[in-house]
Amino acid sequence: MICPRCDSKNIELLTKAPVDDAWEVFICETCYFSWRSTEGENITNPEKYDQRFKLNPANFEKLDKIPPIPDFKK
Ligand SMILES: [Zn+2]
Repeated sequence: MICPRCDSKNIELLTKAPVDDAWEVFICETCYFSWRSTEGENITNPEKYDQRFKLNPANFEKLDKIPPIPDFKK
């Protein structure tokens, strides 16, 4: 399985339906995106996931911290 958002293969099963295995929830250990197995291909398929929202793990260290943490006051 591949993360729809960052294309990582580091995916874990987070939880599943309490009865009849109706759905599963997966989480990406790289970008922490999570999704249900029953969602549409626009969410579950890396090739059909909206390109505007894709993330490249190589850029994670450059992302801003939100909210920004100010310097200590003296
Ligand atoms: Zn990911």
